[in-house]
Amino acid sequence: MAEAQLPKRVDAVKLVDNNQQLNADIDSKNLTRLLDAVVHCNEPVHCEIQFERDQDKNRMLTGSCNTNVVMICQRCLGEVSLPVTSRFQLGLVFDDDQARQLPKRLEPVELDENGQLDLWVVMEDEVLLALPAFPMHTHGECQLEQTEPEPDYTDSDEKRPNPFDVLAKLKQK
Ligand SMILES: [Zn+2]
Repeated sequence: MAEAQLPKRVDAVKLVDNNQQLNADIDSKNLTRLLDAVVHCNEPVHCEIQFERDQDKNRMLTGSCNTNVVMICQRCLGEVSLPVTSRFQLGLVFDDDQARQLPKRLEPVELDENGQLDLWVVMEDEVLLALPAFPMHTHGECQLEQTEPEPDYTDSDEKRPNPFDVLAKLKQK
């Protein structure tokens, strides 16, 4: 289903006053920083955004965005298609002083002097932050797993170190 295009620049102060909700898409062709970070992104970025104030009267932008990107699998160096989802709680501020006064759960985003916000930039930042640092195929889909020789174990299964046990021990230290 085709959704409305998310407006690029908005009057964030007015939208907060109206408790505005926006459910709309950004055509990923417009998000050049995202396109530079991945192999392809042919899907729009779907955004569900709520403008509101929290109980302390902080202006907030909360919601989520998601899309699908193609990246390079760090194991087999083949292309892998990955869903990317970001959930965010942003505090809308006019300057650094206001940013410092925000509660920790709100990530500050600065408005211009007229209260305008570039929503595309904000949503693109969120998608970029949500990209996996080590994109990989899931098990069974990775080319490398099919060509990798079987580990040369001669002992019974019980004697094999379970990689998750090793990790758990490391975490306990
Ligand atoms: Zn792979």
